[in-house]
Amino acid sequence: MAGFTSHMAQALAEARAAAERGEVPVGAVITDPDGRVVAAAGNRTRELSDPTAHAEILAIRAACTAAGSERLPGHDLWVTLEPCPMCAAAISAARIATLYYGAEDPRMGGVAHGARVFDHPQCHHRPQVYDGIGGGESRKLLQSFFEERR
Ligand SMILES: [Zn+2]
Repeated sequence: MAGFTSHMAQALAEARAAAERGEVPVGAVITDPDGRVVAAAGNRTRELSDPTAHAEILAIRAACTAAGSERLPGHDLWVTLEPCPMCAAAISAARIATLYYGAEDPRMGGVAHGARVFDHPQCHHRPQVYDGIGGGESRKLLQSFFEERR
């Protein structure tokens, strides 16, 4: 295996682009087993009038389309914020190998908080989880986004 490459910078760029569209700034990137980026997305819930259009869901859809499969074994997902329960369930269903996330989300998160989806016995696939990657930058983006909206 070649050296470890972080894709959080690209996920943060997707989060910034989401903020510019007036969306909550969350971005996600998926890499295939060779480490190539196969999907990158930011939140589009307002644009698409779709409460499920979270960055992770959009990235998983795009990566599954690219793979021609509803499962993504060996793929890694990078997201700037702790996934919510819906996205955590989708990450498990897609068989994502490793989840890297940035900021914690005590209010809406479903990995280390709240539903703790991967800790349930009903959860058939639990990815490896690494948190706090680029978390400071992600938090700053979210804070300034919500401050501007007050
Ligand atoms: Zn979500």
